Amino acid sequence: MSDSRAGADALDLDLVDGFRFTCRPDCGLCCYAEPRVEPDEATRLLQIAPATSFRRHGRDRFLSSRPEGGACQFLVDGRCGVHAARPHPCREYPVTAHVGPRLQATVILSCPGIDLAPLRSGGVAGALRSTGGLAAEVASLVERVDAGTTARQAAAVRRGRKVERRLTEEGRWIDDDTVRAELGAAMPLPGADLFPPPEPPARDEGLERLPFFFDQRPGPVALARALGGWELLELAPEGGARSLGVLVPPERPPRLDASARRLLEGYLRYVLARDAFLASVHLEMLEGRDGSVRDWVESALLELGAEVLGRASVRAKLAGRDARELTEGDIERGIRATDQDWLDRPTWGDRL
Ligand code: SF4
Ligand code: SF4
Repeated sequence: MSDSRAGADALDLDLVDGFRFTCRPDCGLCCYAEPRVEPDEATRLLQIAPATSFRRHGRDRFLSSRPEGGACQFLVDGRCGVHAARPHPCREYPVTAHVGPRLQATVILSCPGIDLAPLRSGGVAGALRSTGGLAAEVASLVERVDAGTTARQAAAVRRGRKVERRLTEEGRWIDDDTVRAELGAAMPLPGADLFPPPEPPARDEGLERLPFFFDQRPGPVALARALGGWELLELAPEGGARSLGVLVPPERPPRLDASARRLLEGYLRYVLARDAFLASVHLEMLEGRDGSVRDWVESALLELGAEVLGRASVRAKLAGRDARELTEGDIERGIRATDQDWLDRPTWGDRL
């Protein structure tokens, strides 16, 4: 058990402050997942549900979901069957923390219970301090900061230094503060060269690999690459999917009104402020020999922006609207359909 004061001091909460959160009882989006389970949590679960099944990956244990893109084994009629004993990722969602030189908490913006207002006011850390809307989720994170976290942090820092050394030797390294200052001053937005936007995986690569979002249906809607466009699939809790049709993503950037543009820029600034984002770009850079950190971060932001616009357009079409001009609400839905994927990318760091 951690010293909670030390945990609170160790956690950087700049990217959480200011967000309001109200969980939507009709949603269940975060239960289409396999949450990691600590040993003491597994013991507690087995006491109340002896048939609990786990999946192992290396030394980690995960709660199994139902096959074929189904929900967690404990999701029944949209409710958690083990609420009091649910593992930490469920207690903490929609907050997660990256372990690197700092323990940086961030909000998973795919959660429809999160109000995106701080992004509209610039998306910069600490733009709207206070609220405590995520106090219980943050308290659970704080509780888990212990000596083991310190050891994992030291290992992550060593990995990060190795990456930095290699990129420095190749003359490609630029430190995070400089990259953030340069790109944040004039946030790049995707142009026609990035359209049509990057495609999602195909259905036969596994339903659980597809990006998905809450769309006020009983199951989340997943996006899959398909002949002639992107197929939208409504996932079922017990596994399997029902096709909602194939829609064509935009061939060129949709027009944005002023508030839509401001929200997209605010989102990209928020992503740029995440250590996990920069650490994932650094890792990708090892696959190439050219281009500075600034170049790679800029193109990752442009690709992310194009994905948001593509998914916003497809969601607008699904709702029967003209997707050639997008509003702030459309961009919000595009962000929600995209953010979790980018947070799931590997980094040289670790996850608390
Ligand atoms: S995704 Fe967010 S709103 Fe939906 S059930 Fe999970 S925490 Fe609640
Ligand atoms: S344990 Fe409960 S809250 Fe966690 S994923 Fe399963 S059903 Fe959802």
